[in-house]
Amino acid sequence: FLEIDDVHKSYGSFQVLRGVSLEVNKHEVVCLIGASGSGKSTLLRTINALEPISAGRIKVDGDVVTGPGVDVNRLRRNVGMVFQSYNLFPHMSVLQNVTLAPTKVGGVGRAEAEERALELLERVGMRDKAGSYPDALSGGQQQRVAIVRALATSPQVLLLDEITAALDPELVGDVLGIVRELAADGLTMLLATHEMGFAREVASQVCFLHQGSILERGSAEQIFEDPQEERTRQFLGRVL
Ligand code: ATP
Ligand code: MG
Repeated sequence: FLEIDDVHKSYGSFQVLRGVSLEVNKHEVVCLIGASGSGKSTLLRTINALEPISAGRIKVDGDVVTGPGVDVNRLRRNVGMVFQSYNLFPHMSVLQNVTLAPTKVGGVGRAEAEERALELLERVGMRDKAGSYPDALSGGQQQRVAIVRALATSPQVLLLDEITAALDPELVGDVLGIVRELAADGLTMLLATHEMGFAREVASQVCFLHQGSILERGSAEQIFEDPQEERTRQFLGRVL
């Protein structure tokens, strides 16, 4: 469903992605793991056109989404993304944050967008905060709103970049619980995480990224129990 085909990306002469190929099937949850700087965020950002690529091709649902002439607004409605740093609009209420994309670029009426927003907020236990502003929310609450905002345009794929990395440990569980539920509902997700226990639990496929290439991939069990590559073993030895 999401097809990443030999993607290269350089910043100047520095090659960040060196020919990454990866397929995410519908309803699958794929986890990207790897050391800091290995290219996880860059790879995620290329998928919804936050970063142009130098070579290769990415397809979503059969459509090529890299290269000229791509409708970026449409792409981003279809491929939601949540960041480590939440990135909520500080001057907008929770409800305004969540309804902005569906009403401005999704062609959805305000009443319908608000109804769906409130439903989604209810699901993550945030309905009573609909009128609050981001700075009045905890990190975990802001991240739950950011997830809802990404879901508000009914994307077919969700990209999650270290979404618990900035959270206090006691808030991590709430956010991971939501991702777990989305996975159980069959949402297609590609996520970068350093929560290995979580990766192991939700991932149908784990990819170990090393210096801009996927060095090893397999089921969670395979990667965590029986890694084939020395680099993977070293990495897991440091983080587990
Ligand atoms: P982390 O686990 O720390 O989030 P990551 O795997 O997400 O790391 P990336 O953020 O994708 O790594 O970065 C990959 C490499 O690309 C790093 O060496 C980084 O310094 C470099 N890089 C990222 N963004 C830029 C940029 N805008 N300009 C130049 N180099 C960049
Ligand atoms: Mg990153």
